[in-house]
Amino acid sequence: MNPTPHFIANEFVIARSGKTFENRSPVDNRLIGLVSEAGAPEIAAAVAAARAALEGPWGRMDIAKRAEMLYAVADEINRRFDDFLEAEVADTGKPVSLASHLDIPRGAANFKIFADVVKNVPSEFFSMSTPDGAGAINYALRVPKGVIAVICPWNLPLLLMTWKVGPALACGNAVIVKPSEETPQTATLLGEVMAKVGVPSGVYNVVHGFGPGSAGEFLTRHPGVNAITFTGETGTGSAIMKAAADGVRPVSFELGGKNAGVVFADCDFDAAIEGIGRAVFANCGQVCLGTERVYVERPIFDRFVTALKAKAESLKLGRPEDKSTGMGPLISKEHQRKVLSYYDKARTEGATIVTGGGIPPMEGELANGAWVQPTIWTGLPESSAVIREEIFGPCCHIAPFDTEEEAVRLANDTAYGLATTVWTTHLTRAHRVAARIEVGICWINSWFLRDLRTPFGGSKQSGIGREGGVHSLEFYTELRNVCIKL
Ligand code: NAD
Repeated sequence: MNPTPHFIANEFVIARSGKTFENRSPVDNRLIGLVSEAGAPEIAAAVAAARAALEGPWGRMDIAKRAEMLYAVADEINRRFDDFLEAEVADTGKPVSLASHLDIPRGAANFKIFADVVKNVPSEFFSMSTPDGAGAINYALRVPKGVIAVICPWNLPLLLMTWKVGPALACGNAVIVKPSEETPQTATLLGEVMAKVGVPSGVYNVVHGFGPGSAGEFLTRHPGVNAITFTGETGTGSAIMKAAADGVRPVSFELGGKNAGVVFADCDFDAAIEGIGRAVFANCGQVCLGTERVYVERPIFDRFVTALKAKAESLKLGRPEDKSTGMGPLISKEHQRKVLSYYDKARTEGATIVTGGGIPPMEGELANGAWVQPTIWTGLPESSAVIREEIFGPCCHIAPFDTEEEAVRLANDTAYGLATTVWTTHLTRAHRVAARIEVGICWINSWFLRDLRTPFGGSKQSGIGREGGVHSLEFYTELRNVCIKL
C-alpha cells in the first residue's frame, strides 16, 4: 500500500525515514491507507522550496496573473469535484449531502473570493507639506509576508485550509500546509491541482504528521517560516504561540468555542428550532461555530425542549453515501471517547437526559465506527464541565432564562468568544443583544450564514485576529510605506 505522500516543490515524496501512520475510516474503522510522516528533513525541504518560489517566478508574478491562476485552481477543483468529495468523505465520514454543498464548493470558492479581493483593494496615500514648500507624498505598498505555515484541523479540512491558502497565495506568499493527521487526503489532492494549472514549484507544499514531536512542531519551530496561521484547539494555539515567540513571528488563530444560542419567546419558533438544530447537530456537532449551550426564554422553554428533541430523534445516522443520512460519525474513536466522557459526566452530575446520551445501535461493520447519539440535556448547574468546556460533539444543554439581561450574562459567562446565534423578532432587542455579546460573530435569526467578505474570528480565548475579505490582507501582507520627497 503506497502511503499518502507529501507535496514538496511540486513533487509527491515519501519521508526519508520511511515512517508512516494509519488513516482509518470513522464510519467503520476500516484502514483507508497509510500516510507518510514528515520529519525535520521534509520540513527543511518544504521551507527551502517555498523560499525558492518567492525568489523565483512566483515572487515576480503580477497580481492579475496570480489572480488568474487562483481562478484556474478553483475551476480545476470543481472539475475534479467528485475526487475531492470522495477523499473528504472517506477521511471524515461526513454525509455526502453535507460535503457536496459545503466543504467542496466553499473550498473552491475561497480561491476566487481572495483573488477578487487582492485585485480590488486600494492602498493608502497621503501628501504632506515640507518646510521648503516642495512637499512629499506617501503611499503604502502591500508586500507578502513570505513563507506561511498553515496548520489545519479535521472538521472542515478542505474548506478551512483553503480559507487560509486562498488569501495567502493571492497576496503572493508561499505556503506549507500541515493538514490534520485525521484528514490528509484533500490537501494532497490539491497538490495535483496546483501542478496541473501551472502554479510554480514551491508555492504550495504539504507535509503530513502530528503536532508535538512531529511535522506540526517542526514546521512551527522552523526559523525559515515567517508567519503561522492556525485553526484548532485553544490549547494547541497556546503551544504554537510559544513556538512563534522564537523569532517574534506573527500568528493568526481561529480557536475553540463554547458558543451560546439565545432564543427569545418572541422568535419565529419553527425557524429557531431549525436553526438551533443545525447549530447543534450539523457535521455531528464538530463545527467550531456550533452551539453547545442553549438559553431559552422561560415561556417557550418546555415547548422548545420537546421540539428540539424531536429534531434530534429525526436525524438518520448512516453511511455517508446514503442520501438520506443526516448525521455521520465523529472523526475518530479517540474523539468518540472524549465526547462519551462528557456524556458520562452529564449523567453523574445529575443531568436530565432529554434524548441520546450514549452510542447508537449501528448495524454490521458500522458498529466499529465512531458513532454517538445526538444528545440533549437539561438541569445542570452553569458550573458543570459539560457547560464550561468545549465538547465538539452533537450535543447541547438547554437552560431557561427570564430576562434579556440574564440571557446576555449567561451567554458571556465563558472563557471563549467565537460565535452566537440569537433568535428574536424584536428588532431593537436584536441590535442591543448583538452589541453586548462578547463574540467575533453574532448571528441573528440565522446560523453559519457566511459572506466571505466579512471579518471572521474569535474574541477572548477563541482566537487572535480576523480573516475574511480585506481583513485577511492584514495578516498575509505587510504594509510598506514609501515616502517621496518632491
Ligand atoms: P487540534 O488543535 O488538536 O489540531 C489542529 C492541528 O494542529 C492539527 O493539524 C494538529 O496536528 C496540529 N497540532 C497539534 N499540536 C501541535 C503543536 N504542538 N504544534 C503544531 N501543530 C500542532 O484541533 P482539532 O482537534 O484538529 O480541531 C478541533 C478544534 O478546532 C476545536 O477546538 C475547534 O473549536 C477548533 N476549530 C476552530 C475553528 C475556528 O474558526 N475558530 C474552526 C474549526 C475548528
